[in-house]
Amino acid sequence: MKKLLQTLVFIILPALLPAGAQVIEHVDPPSWFTGMNDDALQLMVYGKEIGLFDVKTDYPGVEIKTLVRTENPNYLFVNLSISDKAAPGTVRLTFTRGKQKLVHNYPLLSRPSGPARGFDCSDVIYLLMPDRYANGDNSNDNLPGMTEQLNRSDPGGRHGGDLKGIINHLDYLNGLGVTGIWLNPFLENNQQHSSYHGYSTTDFYRADPRYGSNDEFRELVNEAHKRGMKVVMDMIFNHIGSSHWWMKDLPSKDWIHQFDEFTRTNYRASTYLDPYASDRDKMLMEKGWFDVTMPDLNQSNPLVETYLIQTSLWWIAFSDLDGIRMDTYPYPQPDMMARWARRVGEEFPGFFIVGEVWYDDPSQISYWALNKENSDGYRSYLPSVTDFPVCFAAHRAFEGKYNPTDGLSKIYNVLSQDFLYPEPFRNVIFLDNHDMTRIYTQTGKNLNAYKMALSFIMTTRGIPQLYYGTEIVMEGDKSKGDGWLREDFPGGWPGDSKSVITGSGLEANEKEALDFTRHILNWRKTKEVIHTGRLKHYIPNDGVYVYFRYNDKESVMVIINSNEKESLTIKGENYSESLEGFTGGTDIISGWKTEDLKSISIPPATAMIIELK
Ligand code: CA
Repeated sequence: MKKLLQTLVFIILPALLPAGAQVIEHVDPPSWFTGMNDDALQLMVYGKEIGLFDVKTDYPGVEIKTLVRTENPNYLFVNLSISDKAAPGTVRLTFTRGKQKLVHNYPLLSRPSGPARGFDCSDVIYLLMPDRYANGDNSNDNLPGMTEQLNRSDPGGRHGGDLKGIINHLDYLNGLGVTGIWLNPFLENNQQHSSYHGYSTTDFYRADPRYGSNDEFRELVNEAHKRGMKVVMDMIFNHIGSSHWWMKDLPSKDWIHQFDEFTRTNYRASTYLDPYASDRDKMLMEKGWFDVTMPDLNQSNPLVETYLIQTSLWWIAFSDLDGIRMDTYPYPQPDMMARWARRVGEEFPGFFIVGEVWYDDPSQISYWALNKENSDGYRSYLPSVTDFPVCFAAHRAFEGKYNPTDGLSKIYNVLSQDFLYPEPFRNVIFLDNHDMTRIYTQTGKNLNAYKMALSFIMTTRGIPQLYYGTEIVMEGDKSKGDGWLREDFPGGWPGDSKSVITGSGLEANEKEALDFTRHILNWRKTKEVIHTGRLKHYIPNDGVYVYFRYNDKESVMVIINSNEKESLTIKGENYSESLEGFTGGTDIISGWKTEDLKSISIPPATAMIIELK
């Protein structure tokens, strides 16, 4: 009966509307801002045969420059200029076609004032997955209109985490000592399966309602700012989800890359750098799809380029965002990405962007780094890159067993290639993320190795990123499936038997890890020499790696002994150029003090962070 009624409504309702009745279904961006440096704005207007309409406005300071139409009459692209005379308000856009008239009230907001906060080595960024962090609102777990419903027993299902849950955890995170949070994507992903990870956008301008609203995201940023913390938004320009509304009625055939049959990318970003790469390999890298459910956007289409660039500017201005993490950075058209990064920097000077470049080779990563002058002339304008080589080296060094030739030496060798980066201290460094076996599992569940790894990542050069749950040694093995890397954060769900917030139910090793993390992060928070000091390191010897962070005022000596069973004594004379002028020091981890730097004994499987005096 219900179905019959629905069918009748479907048939009758359009018949009741006046002939040729029109609705505008989408106007993107949904609002814009006064006071932007670039006065240009391009609206994508979607509605049946809207491409056959003309548009006018008499709003002071707003001028309609040109209209762009594609082969699909259901789209109209409106190029506007918003002069500095335009005040915030409602812009009345009048669409006409013969006697037909449609009005759309377009909000013009004022952009946030003040410079971008940016990120540097004084920060520690905490990466969390919104669906898996904390469920602050049960009422949004199952929503009509959303394809996938709650299923906490499925590692690949939706577990109910949301923006409210993250807001509820901000005091905990502030106390932990992190200064910023990076959320895996929270935009609408109305996909059939695995929608929880968020990398299949189905609407660029809408928070997934299962996480909350756009206003709630803005509230999250505001609440973080109140605590002196910053927020990084995850964005994806390479692809969309197969359920994006565009896919039912593409603006143009070349909006996405299309092939006669499904064609996957070869995942070889190296083809852009390779002077001998074939055109076919380069084409597959750029145009092949990342996955079956991820149609590949054609960023060479200027309308696609403008659409994508505007989405990032809109989210920055709308939410007063602090940073963007760009997914799969080398996969979209590289020149367009350079224009994007440049444009963001021009509009919001000092704004932070880190691009995901997944390669175990500094030469491959540095190609995309800021101010890198590549021999082929490519300049990226990307403020920061993900330092996968440091991550993989840390895995080798801290895999929980003595590895004198290949372990700490790998770290030393990777860092020795920093000459490839104009500004290596801008790199985001990490031990794992949502796509990798968790660090505690990498160490073979070895708490000592875990502590050495954390000590290293928090004291070497770069901007550390910490994956949620690392602070309580959460485990996760990639070979079991991605869902196992992204388990629910204990205490985030009502009725959880274990809670990181209250400490109830935590195992001894979890407690120890949490105390250790909190201690080292809070020490780091105010330690200027780690934020801005130089780095000097010594060739690892007998499984021991020694390095110094120093400036004109102070110096910190880090010693990592990766030997499983042997204590080792190091001789001060080998480090005399770094120890000159210092007579003693205190290990901030153990509290051990010394007045004698001639020889230092370091226990097995231990890191010492010695503040010299
Ligand atoms: Ca929820």
